[in-house]
Amino acid sequence: MKDIVKNFRNIKYGPATEDAKEVNKWIANLDKPNHLYINGKLVKSKSTKTIQSINPANNSKLFTLAVANKTDVNAAVLAAKKAFSKWSSLSPIRRSKYMYALARLIQKHSRFLAVLETIDNGKPIRETRDIDIPLVARHFYYHAGWAVKLNKQNLNPIGVVGQIIPWNFPLLMLSWKIAPAIACGNTVVLKPAEFTSLTALFFAEICQKAGIPNGVINIVTGDGTTGELITQHPDIKKIAFTGSTEVGKKIIQSTAVAEKKLTMELGGKSPFIVFEDADLDSAVEGVVDAIWFNQGQVCCAGSRLLVQESIEKKFIKKLKDRMEKLRVGNPLDKSIDIGAIVAPVQLKKIRQIVNKGKKEGSKLWQPSWACPKDGLFFPPTLFTNVSPASYIAQVEIFGPVLSSLTFRTPREAVAIANNTPYGLAASIWSENINLALDIAPKIKAGVVWINSTNLFDASCGFGGYKESGFGREGGSEGIRAYTNINIPQKKKIGLKNIKRKIDIPTIDQTPKLYIGGKQKRPDSGYSFPFYSYNNEFICDISRSNRKDVRNSVEEASKAFSKQLSNFNRSQILFYLAENLSQRKDTFIDLLINISGLNHIDAKKEFDLSCERIFYYASMADKFEGLIHNPPLRGLTMAVKEPIGVITSILDDNQPLLSLSTVMSSVFANGNTNIIVPSEQTALIATLMYQVLDTSDVPAGYINILTAKQNELNLTLAQHENIDGIWAFSENAKTRSSIIKETAFNLKRFWCPKNKNIDWSSNSEEFLLEFLYQGSQVKNIWIPYGE
Ligand code: NDP
Repeated sequence: MKDIVKNFRNIKYGPATEDAKEVNKWIANLDKPNHLYINGKLVKSKSTKTIQSINPANNSKLFTLAVANKTDVNAAVLAAKKAFSKWSSLSPIRRSKYMYALARLIQKHSRFLAVLETIDNGKPIRETRDIDIPLVARHFYYHAGWAVKLNKQNLNPIGVVGQIIPWNFPLLMLSWKIAPAIACGNTVVLKPAEFTSLTALFFAEICQKAGIPNGVINIVTGDGTTGELITQHPDIKKIAFTGSTEVGKKIIQSTAVAEKKLTMELGGKSPFIVFEDADLDSAVEGVVDAIWFNQGQVCCAGSRLLVQESIEKKFIKKLKDRMEKLRVGNPLDKSIDIGAIVAPVQLKKIRQIVNKGKKEGSKLWQPSWACPKDGLFFPPTLFTNVSPASYIAQVEIFGPVLSSLTFRTPREAVAIANNTPYGLAASIWSENINLALDIAPKIKAGVVWINSTNLFDASCGFGGYKESGFGREGGSEGIRAYTNINIPQKKKIGLKNIKRKIDIPTIDQTPKLYIGGKQKRPDSGYSFPFYSYNNEFICDISRSNRKDVRNSVEEASKAFSKQLSNFNRSQILFYLAENLSQRKDTFIDLLINISGLNHIDAKKEFDLSCERIFYYASMADKFEGLIHNPPLRGLTMAVKEPIGVITSILDDNQPLLSLSTVMSSVFANGNTNIIVPSEQTALIATLMYQVLDTSDVPAGYINILTAKQNELNLTLAQHENIDGIWAFSENAKTRSSIIKETAFNLKRFWCPKNKNIDWSSNSEEFLLEFLYQGSQVKNIWIPYGE
């Protein structure tokens, strides 16, 4: 027995290399440079620019990449545009069958694709074979189902979608982008990353085999310049981007004028939290998956290890022992754990950051063995003595480098976990499910894995909070991102009456601002005159400035941190509706005077406003999440969470009804409000103060700032602690200037393009849209079993 154990310990790994003959043959036969896939055909690029692609595992030349230029991108977009009307009106079952064919062909070629991906990217064959490619097939199957299910919903395709993907999960990212987009009836132009285009080119061949109609899927290879051409193309209505936060911000700014719909899957610095009662051996395996999976080149990599102080020594020792046994090497070898870094530039970046970490005083540890010399390898690396504010604890390294920090209490763990601009994912390890489920909602991240990490499935939305981006990929949320709803519009009617004299007494005071539950004088001391529809002076209105914005953000943030229950919010809104209904005459008179409505229309707007608040009171505890059943032993809870502080800029269209809709929907979700009414109708909002005061609305939940039209827009859009901005304006310039500024802290924005919104519509999709826009989904994964 002793001998067996001894032999077992000394046993050496033999090579177990995957055969790459077929794949190498295919690569060798690839056109030089590669052809692009446009309108169903493999065509030559019109550009002469090329890039030499390499195999990162041995630095050998792989193929010559064509860098598509403007003519190529135009041709691809034109093909997608032409294909759109037929594809979007195809019967759902036929669309579904095409997608099913793609899924089947991916499965059929799965080993080929796994080897091809490994050669191109450098990731271990074990991962491409067991994770990447099966997930790709699953994505097409799942969305084939959506193509049919969508038939029953009022969601419209957007048109031509531009999709730009990174190099870390080349084919998986392609499937995350293409499958939902085409299931919804859109057509696509996709650009793979310059380091990893091979599986996308093979996928083009799969599309031909599946008989995908010409122009539905177009693939143009290239670099950032090609990506830019896609984002700037006027016929592309939506951009779905996965990549760095830096480029994501650029895209938000550069597409603001065209007001393209966006999904942004950006960077992360995800915490991996180990509590003292965790199963430490499992947690160590978790760390291996969290940071050494795909060489750490994962947007949701658990790159910050947060260990409870009481177990730090023990845990770090176990971790180092495990690291010592990890194997780095030829990614085609089935027995290696860590493959090659994708490209020299990425390896250089990792080295630079590691050197910076050492200089900062953090303690570096690497296993005793050396990496192979003939490829782009970097050893698994652990930094201890890392402070939460240090460079290596804040920036996305995108390599096999783990920064370890400690915490004492659960509260401190949450504070450190949330202490980066990112919010993509988190992993919580504890044998106490109560503790884990208490921590999960407190972490600002779009995905939380309990006692697990890096789990993905097509049915569960994936995406970030804060600077990790917005929009979700996968699940029903992912479908929303590729569709539009109908925003009701009313015909421009001469609803304003012939001027007539109504007696409205001049108000002998200047209504103040409403901040933190109190009426406050504006900081500037300035006001502006307010006139009736007949141009008669009524009163002066307070004019807010930057300082008032700051004060209201402070109050709104304080209120947000208190988190009222949904039952509480519902009760308050019911009471608010009731109190508003008791001020019928005052509001109707005012509507007549400032909007020029006749009595019938003014009464209608008033009644609808009360009903609207009532509706959102009812929905405060009914806009709920879902439970997903991904194919593993466990569940995923898709929880709807509020966004935070939301500011809304209104125009003068149906002023009482728009105010009531925005105010109550934002509140219903648990967000806090900063509302800027339009200059022409501000008095409606100031009259609401008394209603709010008598309705038990807690301080800071609803703040109202009056101002000249648009003068606060930029201050609000740029404010770091405002999490979302809604602007209702018919002026495209106003909307785009706001959108541009949101890039600063990646605020969620909703600036509907629609002219003359019919706020009186009770269409359910319209009313739900406000709740949808005011929430974000967090997917909490809870595996079970021994
Ligand atoms: P980028 O964000 O630059 O690239 C992502 C994709 O966008 C690629 O297809 C790229 O093209 C394309 N692209 C680059 N510039 C533009 C532009 N101006 N307009 C439109 N598209 C553009 O990431 P990199 O590949 O350069 O990696 C840099 C760093 O970003 C990494 O070190 C890592 O930290 C982070 N990163 C994060 C990812 C994530 O998922 N969170 C994924 C990838 C990288 P091309 O590759 O051809 O140049």
